[in-house]
This record gives sequence, C-alpha cells and structure tokens, in this order.
Amino acid sequence: MSEGEKTSLLGKSNIQGVATKRVFLDSISADSLKSNLRNISSTPHMAGTIASNTLADYFVLKFKDYLGEYATIEKVQYDVLLSYPTPQSKIQLVGGNNTVLHNAQLYEDKIIGDEYTSIDPALFPAHLAYSPNGEATAKMIYGNFCTRKDFEYLASQNINVQGTIMMCRYGKVFRGIKVQNAEKLGAAGVIIYSDPQQDGFVKGPAYPEGPFRPESGIQRGSLMYPTYSGDPTTPEYPSLPGTTNRIPRKDIINLPQKILVLPMSWKDARVFLARLDGAVAPADWQGGIPNLTYRIGSLTNSVSTSIMVHNIEKIMPVYNVVATIKGTVEPDRSVIIGNHRDAWVYGTLDPHSGSVAFLEVAKGIGAMMDKRWKPRRSLVFASWDAEEYGLIGSTEWVEHYSEILKQQVVAYLNVDTSYGTHFDVEASPALANLIRQETPNIVSPERVNTTLDQTWNNQTSYVGDGSDYAPFFHHLGIPVIAMDFRGDFMYGAYHSLYDNFNYYTKQFDGDFRVARSLAGILGLVAIRLVNDEILPFKTADQGVVLKDYANALSSLDDYVAFTSKLNPEQLATFNSMILNLNTTIQGFILVSGQFDKNVTNYSVGRNHDVDVRRMNDKQMLFERGFTRKEGIKGRPWYKHVICSPGVDLGYDFEVFPALMEAMRDNRYNDALGALEQVIAAIKTSTSFLK
Ligand SMILES: [Zn+2]
Repeated sequence: MSEGEKTSLLGKSNIQGVATKRVFLDSISADSLKSNLRNISSTPHMAGTIASNTLADYFVLKFKDYLGEYATIEKVQYDVLLSYPTPQSKIQLVGGNNTVLHNAQLYEDKIIGDEYTSIDPALFPAHLAYSPNGEATAKMIYGNFCTRKDFEYLASQNINVQGTIMMCRYGKVFRGIKVQNAEKLGAAGVIIYSDPQQDGFVKGPAYPEGPFRPESGIQRGSLMYPTYSGDPTTPEYPSLPGTTNRIPRKDIINLPQKILVLPMSWKDARVFLARLDGAVAPADWQGGIPNLTYRIGSLTNSVSTSIMVHNIEKIMPVYNVVATIKGTVEPDRSVIIGNHRDAWVYGTLDPHSGSVAFLEVAKGIGAMMDKRWKPRRSLVFASWDAEEYGLIGSTEWVEHYSEILKQQVVAYLNVDTSYGTHFDVEASPALANLIRQETPNIVSPERVNTTLDQTWNNQTSYVGDGSDYAPFFHHLGIPVIAMDFRGDFMYGAYHSLYDNFNYYTKQFDGDFRVARSLAGILGLVAIRLVNDEILPFKTADQGVVLKDYANALSSLDDYVAFTSKLNPEQLATFNSMILNLNTTIQGFILVSGQFDKNVTNYSVGRNHDVDVRRMNDKQMLFERGFTRKEGIKGRPWYKHVICSPGVDLGYDFEVFPALMEAMRDNRYNDALGALEQVIAAIKTSTSFLK
C-alpha cells in the first residue's frame, strides 16, 4: 500500500509523542492484517486439537518474527477438561410405533462460492460443549428464550416441564443459563435453536447475500454455568500437567449433570415446532419462522422428540503463547494484551478479527523498538487457548500466577470479536478517560474523514464475562479494557461454519478498515499504559459510576419489590445501610477527586522516583480494593463485589451483584451482608488512594 494510505490511520495530530506514535501507526498495514487473517483462520481449530497446536506454533513464529530478541516467548501448557462433538449425536422427531419422522441435520449446508464450506461440513458437526451423554425420548415444550421469566410463565399455565425436552431459542440470556433453568425444573433435554428473528433473514439478507444467519446455520458454544470460569475440574487451581487436584465430574457444579443438550438450525427447528400442539404461545413468544404459529406443546402430543448426545469429554492439553518484553525502568510493573486463539470452526471473526489486530500491535511495537524505543514497564502479549469452553487458558494462567499478577499488573487489555463499525468499549471506569484521549488519534472505519471520537458514543460500560478479561477483573481486581467494533445486530455467522475468511472479506471488512482501526487504538492505549511516567487513570470517574449505580438502586423493580415486603424494623435497618453505602461512596468521591488533583498538580520534587512510584501504585491497586477474599455469596470464585457477571444473565454484568441476587430471592440477611461487603470494599479501595 502507498505511503499516504499508511499514515492516514493517524487522525488529528495535536498529540504528545507524535513521532513514536507515528512509527507505530505507520507500521500497521492492511496487507499484513489480511495475510495473517487468511493464515490463522485457514482450517477449523477447536481447542486441544492438532490444528490448534499448530496454530499456537504459528503465533510463536509470528512473535519471533515481530519482536525478535526483544521478547521472551513461552508456550504454557495446561491439561483441561474439554468436550467434542461426534456424528453419533442425533435429534429425531418420532411418531407412533417409534417411526422416525425427521432427522435433524447437526451440521451446516455448503454454500456455493464459499470455498470454506467445500470441505465436508458433516465432518464438523455442531454440539454444545459439556452436555452430558445419553439418550431420551419425551414430549417437547416450547420455552421461548428459556429465561427464568419464561419458565414462570409456563408454570402459570400449569405446564410441568419435568421430563420434557425444552425447545429454546437463542437470545436474551447466555445459553448455559437456559440449560441451568431447565435442569432445575427437571427437564430431560434442551434443544437451543437460532430463530431468524434474532440473527436471521428477519434482520436482513442471510449469508451469502448478506451477513445474517442462513437457515441451516447452527450456533455452537459452551454450556459452562457462570459459577466460576476455567477448567471445570480445578476451580482456584491451575491445571498443570500431571495435577491430581481435580474434582470428579459428578461433583462439578458449573456443568450440567444429566440434562441432554444439542443446538439446532431453524431449518430443522421449524419441523419440530410445526408439530407442537397445545395453546398458542403469547405474542412475544412468536418468532420469525415463516408460516408458523408457535405453540407451547403438550404432554398428550401424538409425536415425541428423541435426543441422543454422544460427545467425547476428556482432559486435553491446551497452550497459551506468552511473549514478554521487559520494561526498562519498571520491569516489575506490566501491561498485558490478551486475545484468544481457539475457535469453534474457522473463527475468522471470533476471535481472529481481534487476533490480527493483536499481532499487528506486536509488529508495531517491534518496529518502535527497532527505532530504539524502550518500554518503561513490561509489556506482555498473551494468546489464550480454550476461551470458547469457558475462558480456560486465561483463567488457568491467572490462577497459576495470581499472586504476582495481583502485585504487578497495571492493566489488562483484551481483544476478541469485531463484526461491525461501531466502536465499543467495556472497561474499568477509571480507564475510560484514557480511551477518550486516544480516540481522536485514530481514523474511524464508520464514516469517511472522521476519527473514532466522532463516531463513538463516548460511553464505556462495565465488564461481564464474555471474554478473557473476566478472570483478571472478577477474580483478581485488575483494571481491564475490552475494545471491539460492533454492528446494529449480532452477526449471523456467530459460532458457525460460516464465520470464515470468505464471510469476513465479503460481508464485513473487505478493505480491513476495521482491523486497522482496532490495531491502532489498541496499540495507542497500550503504549500509554506502558510508557506514561505517571499512569493515566482518572480515579474520580470510578466514583461517578459508583454513585450513579447507587442512586439508581431505589428505582429498580427488584429493590421496590424487596423493600415493600420488609417490616418497619427491617426497613429501617436496611435504609440505614443504604445511607451508609451512599456516605461511603461520597468518601470515595472526595478522596479520589483529591488524588487526581494531586496527580495533575504534581511537580518534580527531591524524591521524584518515589513520588511517581507511589502515585502509580495507588492507581494500579485501588481496583484490587473492590475484591474480597470470601467473594460473592454462592459464587466465591468471583471476588470483585462491585461488578460480576449476572447470575441470571451470563455474559452481561450486574453491579452490586450479591445485593441484587439477595433482593430478588427475598433473603433479607444476605442483602444486609452484601451491603456490608460492598461498603467494606469501597472503604478499602478508598484507603488505597489516601
Ligand atoms: Zn471469542
């Protein structure tokens, strides 16, 4: 590409350190993004497979190529529980005398013009990882999204789902939560299918005409419940090769134990749903399958459904590839950039739309170091394995090195899937300002002649557990940033055979504008965190977020319902605790505001190095204050008590989670306990900043 195109990634130029940033930004090239993307997503590579290990070696080679002698490169192995599909799994519609009326196709159709589907798709059947094996034949009940509310509706209609096979559509909540809900009520099986209303033709043209899910598209995924992440057999412990510290399968609480689960396309779901009898489902349960009235089903239906799950579940080796560049001034302080490498099939968008940006940043850092740039702090590039199964590679590493990470990591930056042009940021609140400072320096892929700050809504949100930042943030209290580009709707190739290079270049980012912008912003933010003498946190922004969430509490339905049931004495105690929470937050706001002011007004004194180290340590550590050793009630692995993945949501976060859960379940003492825990955490965090 031409010189002009290379430099065009740099937006407005009124920034500090322009020369260094220009070296970095000039090194980003659509050609290398494209060739890396083609190479790393050329074959299916589920975690633990030979193809996946080969890809790990490719990343080792790339790091050597880009960083040479500047970095030490390690391949770190963990032996973890994984789950694979087999062609023996089946879903059948069964009529009288056990006649099979229909056999669901558990793999996708070939698409003419998409060479990546010209392999035999039947060799890559879809499954949902960690479904137990077994066979069951039962009546089917349609459960809409199979949320807690949906099951409450079924109960209100006197539908007992015990022993049935639930037909659930994807959407609203994480797939594992649907299964967990059904398992609690004693269902025998769950089928989760992709309704066209969520990501198919109802949203727009289906692939290959457009980006939405074609009728045979199937969403794969893991069922791991959000009780903890990582290898299900070793919570809190790293699954080092040879470990004997494993929980037996039957005692694992974050996996389904008996309920049988498989995914389905809507092409097949239509056949099963068309045979349901019983009441017509409510209006908001009606999906987008053409010419179909969605019914609930009944136990007297003349047809049944057979579900046969034959997965292979076993301990397999997985590999994180970690490249470390030692800092020159503060080698014992580090910034980590992470991205997962495993995928359900080709994974061109998930995760490699992020992987190529991640590799491009390594390349750019190498180019800067060739020009004698030296990072002040250590910079770590971590390519994680087995993320798709439940953030396994990153969690095992976090559990392996937890003590040193808690003491030395300034921030963790994550990239994973991008599928649109809207810039999106999830981050620790105190890091939002840094991103705002860097977005004017990067060209936006959304509209011509704009920079990221002009097309972004300038909002950041807290983090759930959708990717590898989760163990760093929720388990250790390390500040995190996750950046990507999203579309107006979820992309229809998600976790399917169609998430491939042909789809990426024809339906999404043919000129690699999005990938270039992602590499650019990721690199600039990382360089700031690695190189600013005084770290660029704005701790007062954390106070604003705490206050906003605390203020919003009293208008939440769960809060109103909970407090309306308390007796006057309980209500008085509860209200005084809420008052205490607000006072504690005010204290945090005061101290963080003063701290930020001191940092801004700092002038070099006699003990400069010590002063800088002290200011930086406060910024690095105050988020750790939000973690408590005992963790969240019922989910002790989650230590961050201000924000965790929602127990009924998965992926999405909830603020003051233990309090919210206790209020929803009307557990008065637990609600008080949760408030006490949050107040203690905010006070600890405040102390770090004093
Ligand atoms: Zn991913």
